[in-house]
Amino acid sequence: MSSGQWAVSGETMLVIKTPGEMQGWAQEQRRAGLRVGLVPTMGYLHAGHLSLVAEARRRCDAVAVSIFVNPVQFGPNEDFEKYPRDEARDLELCRGAGVAAVFLPAPAAMYAPDASVFVVEERLERGLCGARRPGHFRGVCTVVAKLFNLALPDVAVFGQKDFQQAAIICRMVRDLNFPVEVVVAPILREPDGLAMSSRNVYLSGDERQRALGLSRALAGAAEAVAAGPSPADAVRLRMAEVLERHALRVDYAEVVSAETLEPVAQASRGDVALVAAYCGKTRLIDNRVL
Ligand code: AMP
Repeated sequence: MSSGQWAVSGETMLVIKTPGEMQGWAQEQRRAGLRVGLVPTMGYLHAGHLSLVAEARRRCDAVAVSIFVNPVQFGPNEDFEKYPRDEARDLELCRGAGVAAVFLPAPAAMYAPDASVFVVEERLERGLCGARRPGHFRGVCTVVAKLFNLALPDVAVFGQKDFQQAAIICRMVRDLNFPVEVVVAPILREPDGLAMSSRNVYLSGDERQRALGLSRALAGAAEAVAAGPSPADAVRLRMAEVLERHALRVDYAEVVSAETLEPVAQASRGDVALVAAYCGKTRLIDNRVL
């Protein structure tokens, strides 16, 4: 991409569809001395995503949002095909949030048909969602590494909503020396406590009520350790009971160390409680630092 082709971040939001153009834009911002922020998403944006954009804007001069439903991170029986998409609405929300550029690549532009290099994190991904969704974090790490190489961000903002993902990205950045500062932003919730998620759109009225079981289970875990350390198995059991009482099918209910993501024997302040459960056909996750 020749220099000078891209306007430096200003009033109008650019919509970028190809990797080459994304790199060109990012190089142009950096040449102009601007700090670039990146917020990777799969689209169908909600206030949680926009809070990450606001955080990126506080720290950077030009913020790019990527919207890409990454086929490589979905398992064969997962919801890649029916994952909710609304490009026009997403672009409007990004415009309103002061985003400088939206990167909206087609899958074919991101992966060569014979792509054969992937990024694999080997420790933090062993439990939790990594154990339940084989190959998921290989897809996540690979696409995030690619997005870092395309958007050349100084800062990338991720949500604590995906706690394991954020930990794995931090590890990838450390171990592969990406020159990127990773910021992990808090979980935005609906007024009744449900963590915002693009997948909440799948929930029927009754399921939406039952989905409160996740945040309630986590509140129970926090309560259990409020007075001091508590045997972690009892906390796990208590969380599973709350999920089941809401007619949710438990995928996992765990308490782990925030650093290693290994299960702990005693649940204490600073550990993390995480739940994943099916509400009908929809798999929901949530977590809380105790
Ligand atoms: P997704 O589009 O679901 O892949 O999410 C894109 C980014 O937004 C990830 O870093 C998520 O952790 C983050 N995110 C999703 N939901 C929330 C939420 N409720 N609050 C804050 N961040 C979120």
